Amino acid sequence: ERAREVIESAARRGSNRLGVEAMELLDAYGIPTPQGEVVSSPVEAEAVAEEIGDNVVMKIVSPDILHKSDIGGVEVDVPVEDVRDTYEDLVVRARNYQADATILGVQVQEMVDLDNGVETILGMNRDPQFGPLLLFGLGGIFVEVLEDNTVSVAPVSENEAAGMLDDIDSAPLLRGARGRDPVDEATLVETIQRLSQLVTDFPAIVELDINPLVATPDGVQAVDLRLTLD
Ligand code: ADP
Ligand code: MG
Repeated sequence: ERAREVIESAARRGSNRLGVEAMELLDAYGIPTPQGEVVSSPVEAEAVAEEIGDNVVMKIVSPDILHKSDIGGVEVDVPVEDVRDTYEDLVVRARNYQADATILGVQVQEMVDLDNGVETILGMNRDPQFGPLLLFGLGGIFVEVLEDNTVSVAPVSENEAAGMLDDIDSAPLLRGARGRDPVDEATLVETIQRLSQLVTDFPAIVELDINPLVATPDGVQAVDLRLTLD
């Protein structure tokens, strides 16, 4: 199984903190992720960007850097001709932040249309007493400011997952407030259930965050991932 391999290879590296390099874990559970790849050289980065065929997002991949954009580790809307230079810039910024940081490479990722989407957060925290607690809420830059989220114990049924959407104050935002098109609620509910399954299958995952999970009228895209193994 693909998912098991991702976790085992991290364990072999002696790392209990994983980031976007573990996106395959989500793919394996049918949670949609933007096209992308983690590469370890500017030339490879350019090749991936050419394959994507449009401007890309580039992110530093390091277990020592938890909040990539805080250290200038995320560049959005990078044209193919700038990809090689941007690779070097990201590595320099990471080194400036922490000289001995482990750098696994750079992720080159397809751009997701945030204008037609709502940035949500979908996460899990394993509680010693209650087990895996799923968290769903408004994501992106609003996550700390508004603290609009709800928690359910995994595994969740379809009804419970759907109830999590109803629970948040920003539910109208998902349902097309202010003339926006409503997001694809069915896929969002399915995604909550798929994450519920993933964390139920892998007790070794003690913490996981998809932030943002971009919800659009056409589905969802897990744009960022961070998780901790025990
Ligand atoms: P971090 O949370 O570690 O800073 P993210 O991968 O979440 O890194 O990127 C930070 C922000 O950059 C996201 O919240 C989002 O607004 C934007 N972003 C990241 N990836 C994409 C993408 N593929 N398409 C569009 N915007 C993106
Ligand atoms: Mg993020």
